[in-house]
Amino acid sequence: MTTTAKPIESLDTLRGAVRGTVVTRGDPSYDESRRVYNALHDRRPAVVVHAVDAGDVMAAVLYAREHSLPLAVRGGSHSVAGFGTVDDGLVVDLSRMRGVRVDPEARTARAEGGATWGDFNHATHAFGLATTGGVVSTTGVGGLTLGGGMGHLARRCGLSCDNLIAADVVTAEGTLVSCDAERHPDLFWALRGGGGNFGVAVSLAYRLHPVSDVFAGLTCYPLGPDVVRGWQRMIEDAPVELNTILVIALGPEEPFLPERWHGRPICAAFTCFSGPAADDEKVLARLDGLGPVVGRFMERMPYPVINTLFDEQLPPGLFHYWKGNFSRDLTDGAIDAHMEYGGTMPSMESDTAIFPIDGACHEVGPEETAFAYRDAVFSHSIGATWSTGAADAEANIAWTRAYDKALRPHTEEGGYVNFMDTDDQDRVRVNYRQNFDRLRAVKRRYDPDNVFRLNQNIAP
Ligand code: FAD
Repeated sequence: MTTTAKPIESLDTLRGAVRGTVVTRGDPSYDESRRVYNALHDRRPAVVVHAVDAGDVMAAVLYAREHSLPLAVRGGSHSVAGFGTVDDGLVVDLSRMRGVRVDPEARTARAEGGATWGDFNHATHAFGLATTGGVVSTTGVGGLTLGGGMGHLARRCGLSCDNLIAADVVTAEGTLVSCDAERHPDLFWALRGGGGNFGVAVSLAYRLHPVSDVFAGLTCYPLGPDVVRGWQRMIEDAPVELNTILVIALGPEEPFLPERWHGRPICAAFTCFSGPAADDEKVLARLDGLGPVVGRFMERMPYPVINTLFDEQLPPGLFHYWKGNFSRDLTDGAIDAHMEYGGTMPSMESDTAIFPIDGACHEVGPEETAFAYRDAVFSHSIGATWSTGAADAEANIAWTRAYDKALRPHTEEGGYVNFMDTDDQDRVRVNYRQNFDRLRAVKRRYDPDNVFRLNQNIAP
């Protein structure tokens, strides 16, 4: 179904049309309304619309168009590039649209566009069901899914976008379009990896899988090339129920890690095993084979819990600058780069995470969805994160760029759009490889004026 909204001429008309809240400069809640997760992006929008339903989103989009205001869309607010805010423009904030409705019989769930993975996992876990989502519970389902979506269930269940079965989207014309494999299939194709380029997804429907308790946590080793090589070999032959993300960081000050490792370079297998408990020991044996274990926290836990383990360490208000790259393997050159820069992490909060994206992610063809890199096995994110203020941005950004420069010759041309930063727009074409021209055609159809341009932008 497609519906059309009426034009919104003035701010008063907008306030009248919106059931949520319209916040402008001078309002007491303005500072709270304009804040995003990444403190590096301290912007001052002209208007923030806290939408509560699709009608509000339609009104906000129409108002922004009529007044030629740059438009930012914000769900979970985790865009490291700061795409969820804009100076002197309009922000559509979806954080009050967080409902999740589960159909346990059909094994599907429909989430509103501002739901977080914490909202989603809580709702589906009640029925012993889950789908691939982000590893931090406060990340939004919208931004993560539209860019692809990697997480603890990716090897078994595919990317988040592979589990998307339908979406309701407010387009650049302020109209509501429902899409799935049959209705607006071109839009549905583009949403699965093409990011926020095509409209505001006010709701997203997902396929769910039987996942309840998992054997999960961290196994830590001294940072060393052999651990990384061993981890790569483990990924190659591990069952898809065994997902481990390789994290390179400074040893956290946690009780499970002896004090002498606090603040020293380590690598950790961040593991989620969704197979039977009878096989947990086999998982431990595999992890023990990677190198000398210096600390471990692994136990059976409800699936939503593993996605909250880092929530406390990553509250809103920290400063972030990230880079992302895909690779088919971890060559000696790539491992050298990880050793060199992993050994000089600029802060306790910074990390590199290498997500495995093989298994079920490879069962989807490279042109079946917009997510093009179906031959990539690893998705590297290099993330400088610091709490010490904007003044330290230069040093942290320089470290991240140098790391990325050292890694790039050993990885694919493209990387994951959701791990990229504001200055990565020149990589958009290679990130989408063979799918770029088709994405551009869909963009021309649904957003010819590039109203949705605050993203890794596919210019019409
Ligand atoms: P927002 O800042 O709200 O949105 C980012 C952009 O996405 C928006 O500007 C808009 O273009 C688009 N968008 C968001 N919602 C909608 C919507 N409903 N309709 C249309 N467009 C929308 N990625 C992974 O794949 N796996 C992870 O495990 C993972 N972990 C992360 C952990 C942290 C702490 C952070 C900061 C990021 C992580 N990411 C991860 C990256 C994450 O996928 C992106 O940052 C993503 O953009 C976040 O989505 P959001 O809705 O929270 O962000």
